[in-house]
Amino acid sequence: MWNYFKLIATGSWSLAVGMWIVLRHAFKRPVTVQYPYESVRLPARYRGHIELKREAAGGQPKCVACLACQRACPSGCIALDGVKPEGAPRKVLTLYTLNFTTCSLCGLCVESCAFDALQFSKDYNLASVRKEDYQMDLLTPGEKHS
Ligand code: SF4
Ligand code: SF4
Repeated sequence: MWNYFKLIATGSWSLAVGMWIVLRHAFKRPVTVQYPYESVRLPARYRGHIELKREAAGGQPKCVACLACQRACPSGCIALDGVKPEGAPRKVLTLYTLNFTTCSLCGLCVESCAFDALQFSKDYNLASVRKEDYQMDLLTPGEKHS
């Protein structure tokens, strides 16, 4: 008989604690989002794939094709090229591709750039079953390189 009342008491207590937790969280700001209809706000130091930084005026890449990032990459996933037009003060980028399948997001390329021309993107919606989708053309974003 004593056990019967003890079970009712512990069950009620457990129910009350559970309800208290539910009520407490019911009025808090949600930490989840309605993916894929909403996107999460990413922290400033989030590392997506690398991307080229561009001049505010004209939108040209700040990259001068010095190859430092390509040499710094331990995974060999950057390929780039540039030409120096007649009379131009610096090289102009003609190719910049990233093989994101082998990128470890180590950041050595970003660190090695003396021209502040590279940064990590905030792009995280990259799920695909085609590995070609991870051959990225950073010079003309949105286009794929195979
Ligand atoms: S983050 Fe690291 S692995 Fe990825 S492209 Fe840059 S240097 Fe290479
Ligand atoms: S290190 Fe910077 S400037 Fe040099 S090729 Fe890479 S992105 Fe361009």
